Amino acid sequence: MIIVLKPGLSDADVDDVCRRITAMGYRPHTIRGELRTVIGAIGDDRGKERLRALESLPSVESVTPILQPFKLASREVRSENTTIDVAGVTIGGPRVVVMAGPCSVESRSQVLEVAEKVRAAGAAVLRGGAFKPRTSPYSFQGLEEDGLKLLDEARRETGLPVVTEVMEPDKVDVVAAHSDILQIGARNVQNFSLLRRVAEAGKPVLLKRGMSTSIQEWLLSAEYVLSGGNPDVILCERGIRTFETATRFTLDLNAVPVLKKLTHLPVLVDPSHGTGHWEYVESMAMAAVASGADGLLIEVHPHPEEALSDGPQSLKPERFAALMARVRRVAQALDRDL
Ligand code: PEP
Ligand code: MN
Repeated sequence: MIIVLKPGLSDADVDDVCRRITAMGYRPHTIRGELRTVIGAIGDDRGKERLRALESLPSVESVTPILQPFKLASREVRSENTTIDVAGVTIGGPRVVVMAGPCSVESRSQVLEVAEKVRAAGAAVLRGGAFKPRTSPYSFQGLEEDGLKLLDEARRETGLPVVTEVMEPDKVDVVAAHSDILQIGARNVQNFSLLRRVAEAGKPVLLKRGMSTSIQEWLLSAEYVLSGGNPDVILCERGIRTFETATRFTLDLNAVPVLKKLTHLPVLVDPSHGTGHWEYVESMAMAAVASGADGLLIEVHPHPEEALSDGPQSLKPERFAALMARVRRVAQALDRDL
């Protein structure tokens, strides 16, 4: 249920309503908007008639059910867009945020070279995988903790915050210690124990869509993180499985306006995995921004032909710089910047 409070209440008034919600066996989630404070009461729907009684309090304007199955992720609970600050970079605000870097961290020189070049081209966040979810157990699995240390060095050299993937609950603490945003990959979007664990890690979470995950299922995965106490979830569309084989996945840009309607969370698009071919990445990056995405996740490698993972979809740094110049013009046409 959503408990909408009257404007201008004191913290003590808000606390009083939260206490009553807790006493009824629900968990209160307070969302302070610019105009109003709203409390989401999360718990077993069967007792919702008791919550309705709160409407008789002078501090409460209305008590209404949340219609969507995802609650805290829903625009019903929070109408304003969520913005997430990561080391001075605002995700979900007017600026389109580009996160770029190699699929995998492979060596010191590789990651430092890419980091400096994507920074110079205007990327705001460095991406790079140290723990890699590979389809084959015989493929390169990542440099693991050595890779995390190289990402630390790249952050120091460039000032860029870092997003990197965590695959296992047991590794959340170590990955969180070396990253500014925790990436949950497409293959783990419904790994509920991992989602519960990253909710406690104190770092924003970039939640990729699964390749066979509906938008509703994806938002319910986001709900695991939000209801676990972490409000900083960034969604990332990265392509879904369809009958089409000309591209690696089918980038579902429909998802962007659908998500913008359903949720207040920031939405990124990954045109690298979404297409699987470097020559389609720029077009789909521009299309993603035109469709309303808050940012992009793009793979860049100094020598894609030598990459240990995802070389065919990786851009050379010069092509990434050219992409940025064209995407910037699209962003500006929409009164955004990059
Ligand atoms: C990645 O970002 O390199 C990655 C493995 O992505 P996904 O989980 O979307 O396949
Ligand atoms: Mn990749």
